[in-house]
Amino acid sequence: MIFEKVKEFVKTKGVPLYRIAQIRQAVYEKGISDWDEATNLPADLRQALKKEVKLLSFDVVKVEHSKRDIVYKALFKLNDGNKIESVLMKPGKTWSVCVSSQAGCPLGCAFCATGKLGFKRHLTDEEISDQVLFWYQFLRKNNLGERVSNIVFMGMGEPLLNYVNVVKAIENLSCTDYLNIGQRHISVSTSGIADKFYNLAQDLPQVNLALSLHNADNEERTRLMPINRKYDLDTLKEKLEEYIARTGREVFIEYTVIEGENNSPAHVRKLGKWINSIKDNYLLHVNLIACNEAVGKAVATHESSVKKFAAALKAMNINVSIRKSLGSDISAACGQLAAKEGKRK
Ligand code: SAH
Ligand code: SF4
Repeated sequence: MIFEKVKEFVKTKGVPLYRIAQIRQAVYEKGISDWDEATNLPADLRQALKKEVKLLSFDVVKVEHSKRDIVYKALFKLNDGNKIESVLMKPGKTWSVCVSSQAGCPLGCAFCATGKLGFKRHLTDEEISDQVLFWYQFLRKNNLGERVSNIVFMGMGEPLLNYVNVVKAIENLSCTDYLNIGQRHISVSTSGIADKFYNLAQDLPQVNLALSLHNADNEERTRLMPINRKYDLDTLKEKLEEYIARTGREVFIEYTVIEGENNSPAHVRKLGKWINSIKDNYLLHVNLIACNEAVGKAVATHESSVKKFAAALKAMNINVSIRKSLGSDISAACGQLAAKEGKRK
């Protein structure tokens, strides 16, 4: 729900304006999942809201819970029947939400289940921010905690191809009157739509940028990520330098380690060389992720390979950490979101 709709409703129905603050409190402080729970409002107003303003812009088809990790995955059905997924996880002490920005994805990376689906459509700003609102309601309803602390755009789709709606959704989510999630706690992950980096630096300089690199050799990267034909390693380097010069912020380089594909000593050397060639590269931080089983080139990669890769990068003076992959038992980990209703293979 976009709160503007409530304001509009109040004004057109001649409801006293002080109700706006009460409705805001019910939605964003109490975290109601149904207008009936807004007991601070009179019954007739609750009824009217129920008829005219939907709390969520999609239907919740199901929520799954990982048996191994603190991870939940939800499947949503959009108004036009398209389906998307979103993930709630607790990697440490706080809750993070992984949101989708598109139904499907047009970029077809060789290791990603979302890419395999092809592109259905862009999500609206409301469909993006409602994913977080849903998880906030979920946390409240299940007494799991107070709030969502972090948001990562690592679900389905390429956020920088849906730039305007992603920016609007982030502005909405970080608004102090609503969910109040600080922009420094929001990360946008991109396969490298480099001509949008500078826009992001201007529009949302506090938001974290994560670049999915996965290979520092142009030919090999193109095979893994066809978008590299349009934005190759030289372009990425140039646009990253501009981004860093403008924001002075740390940038995360995501590297999914795929056994036998991008984890040889030569791959480490190329990656290290590329990073060290970038101006102000002390602001670059490599996040290594063990590849999750998904499609095509994605083979489950053992942690020992990732550790070896990390040690070799460290030896080249590069900031590096290993990101733990969560929720693969319910296909909720990176690259596994396919918004299927039935059982997976
Ligand atoms: N389209 C954006 C964001 C969504 S994908 C992007 O590509 O960055 C989120 C992350 O999951 C990306 O870093 C992506 O490369 C990674 N990913 C995709 N498939 C994966 C797999 N099978 N195992 C591990 N990570 C994967
Ligand atoms: Fe799209 Fe990202 Fe998957 Fe590539 S990794 S297909 S850009 S969602």
